[in-house]
Amino acid sequence: MRAWRVTSPGPMESRPLTLVDEPIPGPGPGELLVRVLACGVCRTDLHVAEGDLPAHRPHVVPGHEVVGEVVTVRDDGAGFAPGDRVGIAWLRGTDGTCAYCRRGAENLCPASVYTGWDADGGYAEYATVPAAYALPLPSGYDDIELAPLLCAGIIGYRALLRAELPPGGRLGIYGFGASAHLAAQVALAQGATVHVLTRSPAAQRLALELGAASAGAAADPPPESLDAAILFAPVGDLVPPALAALDRGGTLAVAGIHLSDVPPLDYQRHLFQERQLRSVTANTREDARAFLRFAGEHRLRVTTTPYPLGRADRALSDLAADAVTGAAVLVPDLG
Ligand SMILES: [Zn+2]
Ligand SMILES: [Zn+2]
Repeated sequence: MRAWRVTSPGPMESRPLTLVDEPIPGPGPGELLVRVLACGVCRTDLHVAEGDLPAHRPHVVPGHEVVGEVVTVRDDGAGFAPGDRVGIAWLRGTDGTCAYCRRGAENLCPASVYTGWDADGGYAEYATVPAAYALPLPSGYDDIELAPLLCAGIIGYRALLRAELPPGGRLGIYGFGASAHLAAQVALAQGATVHVLTRSPAAQRLALELGAASAGAAADPPPESLDAAILFAPVGDLVPPALAALDRGGTLAVAGIHLSDVPPLDYQRHLFQERQLRSVTANTREDARAFLRFAGEHRLRVTTTPYPLGRADRALSDLAADAVTGAAVLVPDLG
């Protein structure tokens, strides 16, 4: 099969990835072998390829938004059978025994392992996954549309949970990329009023098209105070204005892994009256399943740009240059 491996992590210009031809992997105990139908290209893949994330598995195959068809099942398959369409996402293993796992917070497990970082992912024609971490996928979407739901969608969903938006509440969304535009649609479907704050005029237009009540510049105050807000832009300078935009008791959830420095906060303006500031760390399998169920019940609009699998390096370079419309998705059948 064809697969892309990160042979020399570094800037995309230095060609860190190599397209190799190698045997189809055999599924290990408790694993599924999956034929890849589509694999989303996430910014984390860029961090793996460019070496911003330390290598966990040398020469790893990146890709953790994998939509595939089950080919082989080893052991009981956790309910999956050959022919099923399944998703392979970032979270790929936890110990199940630590204090965090036992209290339902497996996203915090110190022993967690990840697809496309600790184990080979979906920039290939075939991939394996522990059956217990494979995800059932909703109908009503094609393979390419499903791919971005598996990271951008799930993380956006968890960020929305962490923001604790009350029913029918007013939500502010700071930054409006792949994850944010899916989280906005979930909130709107749940009856929220959504205000989007982003510097990009194209993103502002998309926000209004999707049903946002307003779309303005990133640091501007929204037209009304907010019950909850999510910061998707990795910009610490937006934390004070986002906290200042919260009503009493409101929560700001920071969705990203990275955030630039947060300027000093003013206790009275930014935190008093029980305003809360919290982070979001990966997701649990329950978050993933709940989001995918929701996506099955509410048709989400997903914007994608397909690339042949053979052009994965090009897709990553385009992502690095912010030159992709919607989410880039690799498709083996396209070449
Ligand atoms: Zn654990
Ligand atoms: Zn991702």
